[in-house]
Amino acid sequence: MLAPAISRSQLCKQLRDLGVEPGSVLLVHTSFSKIKPVEDGPLGLIAALRLALGPQRTLVMPSMTEDDDHPFDSKTTPCIGMGIVSDMFWRLPGVFRSDNPSAFAAVGEQAVRITAPHPIDPPHGLNSPVGRVYELDGQVLLLGVGHDANTTIHLAESLAGVRYMSKKYTTVLKQGKPTRVDYQETDHCCQKFNLVDRWLEARGLQRKGDIGHAEARLAQSQVIVAVVLEQLRMNDTIFLHPKGVDVECDEARKSIDSRVQ
Ligand SMILES: [Zn+2]
Repeated sequence: MLAPAISRSQLCKQLRDLGVEPGSVLLVHTSFSKIKPVEDGPLGLIAALRLALGPQRTLVMPSMTEDDDHPFDSKTTPCIGMGIVSDMFWRLPGVFRSDNPSAFAAVGEQAVRITAPHPIDPPHGLNSPVGRVYELDGQVLLLGVGHDANTTIHLAESLAGVRYMSKKYTTVLKQGKPTRVDYQETDHCCQKFNLVDRWLEARGLQRKGDIGHAEARLAQSQVIVAVVLEQLRMNDTIFLHPKGVDVECDEARKSIDSRVQ
């Protein structure tokens, strides 16, 4: 039997109960399949998030593309791989989207500042939308997803100066011509980002609750970064699997070895 659809006002209450503060900056990562059914679907969820934040709200969502072979266009390139809510969000009136393949979209008081130009390399450093949410003391809401989807942890990796780097490329327009740009990113399979759940829980630095039908986690961006930095300073490969588990973590480990030589 289908679970009952949750109304916008119920969603708003759930968000406030979890600790979403009116007037704050909120960065949301979502998996709508875990949250549904809710009244008016993905758009109803976006409306509930804005309602919970109030008129001074700034709502931020990832909006990146996985297409490395065509120039990114913030007005037309779909957001693939981040879920339906993110892909609907950037298309709404009044929503700003950064002009970068690692784009984020935002609406509200701080939206222009958060989506200001940011460099391709590094994509998630201080000078990027996640970096600006951090500077603005924003909250991070994981809605039906774990910390393996939490981009703010990449910001902490960037600030920690971890030694691993994956080779990436993207395509940008240079004088009207599509041009390949190579860059490096602190990337791996990201499954071990889920360790952050335990680190935050152990110190009571994360709120957990239900939003819609999904489990949700809420924490301050600055708290996530501080806790992760502390761990990375003790062991900067703590997020990498041991050798032989998956290709991405193996490549990240190999990039450290090649730096040493
Ligand atoms: Zn891995």
